[in-house]
Amino acid sequence: MNTIQLKPGRDKSVRQRHPWIFSGAVARVEGNPAAGETVLVRSAGGEALGVAAYSPASQIRARMWAWQEMAIDRAFFQRQLEKAIHLRQALIDPAESNAYRLVHGESDGLPGIVVDRYGDWLVLQSLSAGAEYWKEVIVECLVDCTGVRNVYERSDVDVRKIEGLEERVGVLCGEAPPTSMQVCEYGLKFSVDLCTGQKTGFYLDQRYNRRVVQGLAQGRQVLNCFCYTGGFTVHALAGGAAEVLSVDSSAEALERGAENVALNGFPADQAAWLQGDVFQVLRSMRDQNRHFDLIILDPPKFAPTAAQAERAARGYKDINLLAFKMLRPGGLLATFSCSGGVSADLFQKIVAGAALDAHVEARIVERLAQGRDHPVALNFPEGAYLKGLVCQVA
Ligand code: SAH
Repeated sequence: MNTIQLKPGRDKSVRQRHPWIFSGAVARVEGNPAAGETVLVRSAGGEALGVAAYSPASQIRARMWAWQEMAIDRAFFQRQLEKAIHLRQALIDPAESNAYRLVHGESDGLPGIVVDRYGDWLVLQSLSAGAEYWKEVIVECLVDCTGVRNVYERSDVDVRKIEGLEERVGVLCGEAPPTSMQVCEYGLKFSVDLCTGQKTGFYLDQRYNRRVVQGLAQGRQVLNCFCYTGGFTVHALAGGAAEVLSVDSSAEALERGAENVALNGFPADQAAWLQGDVFQVLRSMRDQNRHFDLIILDPPKFAPTAAQAERAARGYKDINLLAFKMLRPGGLLATFSCSGGVSADLFQKIVAGAALDAHVEARIVERLAQGRDHPVALNFPEGAYLKGLVCQVA
């Protein structure tokens, strides 16, 4: 079997069951493994530590499949996928949603493999050389484990480049999804497009947080920034918001947002939509002395890795400062960061700095994170990417 041998003293994280082996930890590669092929991982002393997928193009040179010497084959993927799917059954009430994450990569013991279920469709993202190598087998096993016949690929993500993979989108099995299908979230309906929507179609990781916002919206004038297709907007209206102004840079997202408001029977005049750059929109609203009772900030990833954290911090501070200035007394800010490179601690510090500079007294009344269908394996803390704070101003 092809083997990679680690440098002396570089086996600690593998022994702690961290799934990533960085190129700097590798002393030698024996044999000539192709991208995605399984390699045996040995310590400097020659001890077998487990098996991994080899990724020659990436700084993450190998991702562990298992921490023992074993065959990686169809039976392995069948077992791992069954486990992930079985564990979800205890976590997701079908009445809560028919759209949720079935497989969450490293945290489900399947590095680089993401699968979301939307009713009768599965959407697969293959994010690593190992995932790509086993893709066909994974699709077969998925159909087997779930009974869902339609599998669509949305591997159109930047991280593929780092793995030396091209972006890819298309049918893997069964039929192509319709350009508009409805999913249900806590009794609310949302139109999603699995082919061209962002991520795999919908921001499933925010499901619980949208419900939290629903519970805080009664009678409030709401500003929903980075609204995408109006997830928080519809939940705020369901919670009795007086009106919601939603802002996003994507015209298609806003169009679908308005459709989602109508789909749930809320009057169109309670929901206003504004296409623009949130940074500019917030500044001009501040200059016009506009005020709100509840502001949501759910920006895209400003810092995928820690290296971009400083620039990202300025972005977060900017928008949070402006939002604090526009809240009425007693108003609420639901603010999020999905940047892997910004820790929960750092995010809280940034928000605290924003409140200070905005001259408001604010407190955290709730801490939020990604939903439970996006678990964080304890051996993979990097999996905790989404953090949120609900802050109340005095
Ligand atoms: N809250 C949403 C998800 C937001 S994702 C939900 O629950 O579904 C982030 C959104 O920000 C995307 O829709 C993207 O189009 C938008 N976006 C990115 N940069 C932006 C900018 N500078 N100004 C306004 N919108 C932006």
